[in-house]
Amino acid sequence: MTAQRDNRMTGQRGHRMTAQRDNRMTGQRDNRITWQQRIDSALEARRAAEAFRVRSVVEGGAGRFLIRDNRQYCHFSGNDYLGLSQHPAIVRAWQQGAENWGVGSGGSGHVSGYTTAHQKLEASLADWLGYPRALLFISGFAANQALIAALMEREDRIVADRLSHASLLEAASHSPAQLRRFAHNEASHLNALLEKPCAGQQLVVTEGIFSMDGDSAPLHELHAAAQQHNAWMLVDDAHGIGVSGEEGRGSAARQGVKPDLLVVTFGKGFGISGAAVLCSEPVADYLLQFARHLIYSTSMPPAQAVALQAAMAVIRSDEGEQRRQTLAALIARFRAGVSEMPYHMTDSQSAIQPIIVGDNSRALKLAQQLRERGIWVTAIRPPTVPVGTARLRLTLTAAHHPQDIDRLLEELHAASQ
Ligand SMILES: *Cc1c(COP(=O)(O)O)cnc(C)c1O
Repeated sequence: MTAQRDNRMTGQRGHRMTAQRDNRMTGQRDNRITWQQRIDSALEARRAAEAFRVRSVVEGGAGRFLIRDNRQYCHFSGNDYLGLSQHPAIVRAWQQGAENWGVGSGGSGHVSGYTTAHQKLEASLADWLGYPRALLFISGFAANQALIAALMEREDRIVADRLSHASLLEAASHSPAQLRRFAHNEASHLNALLEKPCAGQQLVVTEGIFSMDGDSAPLHELHAAAQQHNAWMLVDDAHGIGVSGEEGRGSAARQGVKPDLLVVTFGKGFGISGAAVLCSEPVADYLLQFARHLIYSTSMPPAQAVALQAAMAVIRSDEGEQRRQTLAALIARFRAGVSEMPYHMTDSQSAIQPIIVGDNSRALKLAQQLRERGIWVTAIRPPTVPVGTARLRLTLTAAHHPQDIDRLLEELHAASQ
């Protein structure tokens, strides 16, 4: 049992499998751990590392406030950066979409689930972001898995920023291609890895704005390195789309870069959910043949596509620009305040403003302290972030008022004493 638990914790499952095979060959009574023991020891390891995850139920609110256990909290842990999840025109668009189309798409887009609402949204996304084609996916996670699974072959290599989102790194490690990680945001390291001989194609993978640090990738340099080696570049701009750049076109547009593959997601700045891949005509046609997450999965409800269309209209309008400016002012207010306190911040100009605490129990304690004072924050621990960098991942939204930021600053100050 002890050896098995160790295996589980170190991820070394090979020994256990060898032992099983030996048992089978010698005909001895099977002494493998049971399902129950396997589950119990994994949970025990998580608890021991203070990395046990639980969900807590939200009873209402979003954007600025959140209600949990009958108590209203000021909310600093959502991804609804522009406050669009509660936007009346977008809510109405979803309702009208449901009246017109019903609540579900009724099938895969390859069968009967691709409606004029989906088609119109894809065309507008492509037009807005300056790509020949856009393909809708049910989530960013599915889009990343589908793209990497459909594109990569055995001789190929994926070179990814080491802080890339789990949906990218997991897809990469499951793919038959080789996975190499470059030091966070370091184009010179990327270059060195791309230099190494590769029999197949290379794909550079990064995010526009990093989900756990909030900093931006140097897309210009990374793209230049990719192009120099005839590699394609995939940028996942989950946290930049809608929030950054002119008309909210995101990180790549802001930096004047056109990645070969752009993934945008709608669960953050758009305030809804879903995702799209922006690409060339042939790549879109290729994905329609080979992306299993599209072929074997029910497409998003048409009403959701109608709501996304309305969200995009707000994002592109003057109102969207005002919301981006409001958010930028709140970010500046927050950073100025924290810079006078003994906390470690990241180099983030985005809505994601982490406070790096280091060890897990300290991060949990700080989160708990703030919650007791009516401020909802989340502690993020390994394996979501590297070991020793547990943090509060604070997020701001255009729905906050300046006094919300001041209140957060006061409580952070009190907790640092
Ligand atoms: C949130 C996120 C995803 C996942 O998107 P969902 O639509 O929530 O599945 C993918 N990539 C990054 C960088 C993200 O932050």
